[in-house]
Amino acid sequence: MIYSSQKSYDVPAVDLLTFLFANRLENPSCAAKEDTIIHLEAANPSNSITKSVGRELTKSIAYSLRNSFSIGENGPGKDVVVVISSGQPLLAMLFYGVIASGGVYSAASASFTASELERQIKQGNSNLVFCSEDAKDVAVEAAKRCGVPLSRVVVVRSSPSWSMASLEDEVSVLPSKGKLGWERITDQEELDNSLICLLYSSGTTGIPKGVMISHTNIVAESYIPATMFREKIAARIENGEPPFEYRTLAHLPASHIAGVQGYFINPFYMGGPVYWMPKFDFGKFLEYNKKFRITFFFTVPPIYLLIAKTAIVTDQFDYLEVAISGAAPLGKELQHAASAKLGRGKTFIAQTWGLSETTGSVTAMPWGEKDDTGSVSKLLPNMSVRLMDDDGKDVPEGKPGEVLVKGPVVTKGYYGNPQATRDSFIDGWFCTGDVAIWKNGLPYIVDRKKELIKYKGFQVAPAELEALLVTHPKILDAAVIGVDIPGTEAPRAYVVTNGDITEQEIKEFVKKNIADYKQLRGGVVFMEAIPKSPSGKILRKDLREMARKETRAK
Ligand code: AMP
Repeated sequence: MIYSSQKSYDVPAVDLLTFLFANRLENPSCAAKEDTIIHLEAANPSNSITKSVGRELTKSIAYSLRNSFSIGENGPGKDVVVVISSGQPLLAMLFYGVIASGGVYSAASASFTASELERQIKQGNSNLVFCSEDAKDVAVEAAKRCGVPLSRVVVVRSSPSWSMASLEDEVSVLPSKGKLGWERITDQEELDNSLICLLYSSGTTGIPKGVMISHTNIVAESYIPATMFREKIAARIENGEPPFEYRTLAHLPASHIAGVQGYFINPFYMGGPVYWMPKFDFGKFLEYNKKFRITFFFTVPPIYLLIAKTAIVTDQFDYLEVAISGAAPLGKELQHAASAKLGRGKTFIAQTWGLSETTGSVTAMPWGEKDDTGSVSKLLPNMSVRLMDDDGKDVPEGKPGEVLVKGPVVTKGYYGNPQATRDSFIDGWFCTGDVAIWKNGLPYIVDRKKELIKYKGFQVAPAELEALLVTHPKILDAAVIGVDIPGTEAPRAYVVTNGDITEQEIKEFVKKNIADYKQLRGGVVFMEAIPKSPSGKILRKDLREMARKETRAK
């Protein structure tokens, strides 16, 4: 068993909203002051939200959710509110408002098709959907299929003015007729067992499932790394160096844990602004980094690849002091090449590793420390891990094993899916499906045991694509694996057909039915039969080996 070698922290036993909104006398660890501007629209920064305005918006949204939509009426953690939206400042307020009303915020990808959203609404047994203008058609179609009336489909607009109103009957969530404060929770058991958010992940196998996130999970994931960071800032000031000014840019999907932690919570807690972009656009990303003198960001390896390889990247990241990479593997060579273009060559990218199921980071590099050997950094305080072989035995240092995690950030399991929850834990340890080697106190992720494919940091569940492919009348059987393509991995389908369908037709069929990031960019291979075990399980290892041989032969 490996315990974090760093000093542990006493995570405050308090609910997320009190943690964020309490005044600074009550919670000195939260850096935001009443008039600190936290959320802004990058395209129109005068459209902004301070801490005190944020608190009032939260109460207003909570009031409407409770009084117009009965959210939280039967107690907290029961009513799931599905949100599909591109990036906008009001999203964070909606997140807080849903929690304040006693609801559960269910984050859906803005790239979803109606079928994917339909599944998420049904999985949460939800009867209320929020969407941005650009996701309205998908939200309406999915709501219709689930029997959710259009009076319960609410469009969120952050500009030109703030509003949230339903598509039919014009039920207004914002502006609202009143305010509802949240319940302050300090009982540890209640905090641990609470449910405030659902993030979607396929885990080690199967289709995407709702990862249950509690107050404890999210407060711990904010408090521990941020407090470490703030201690370093204080030491820096003591040394006579200038204070660190936190400024970040919301450019990754807000439906991923990177968005929830990085854009809803951390800017608030760190006391600095987050500039919201509706979606990623490399040109705008460069422009805003320079214009807003961004000092801190977490991003994914494909974006570091663009930074490393693109000649137009010159001085846009001169103010960047903290650059973090996670969500997918980052090779050491790319880490060095991209770092050279950040913070006038002085900002070295720190790696982090974690999962939706661990509310984000399990490992991270303390600010000011550096590892250039390609590790995913040190284990965060309050965390412990075990590395296990296929026979369930702990492996010695230097040998690969599946990483199992324990700590306050680990989920209680998957919503409405006790079987998947049971299958993901061994003696209270969460099985991550990632394989690592521990060397000199540092973990190196060397393989992935689970089925998951990560296209540019986005999760693609093979089981979901397989289930879709076999609904085509000309496809008799299908198996999907991840293959390497330049800069990332992508899904490839192996199919058995009736001989009457082309690769292009299969790709078109997938395009029509599923989000863009799940497309078959790794190609389609036709087969006589999918290799399977006697019990009917797809032998993915064999398919991966075939793909590797093909790459080697090229
Ligand atoms: P998600 O729940 O979408 O954040 O996906 C979690 C998965 O992403 C992990 O189980 C890993 O397979 C992968 N992942 C996250 N961070 C890293 C990293 N730094 N290096 C390699 N893989 C990573």
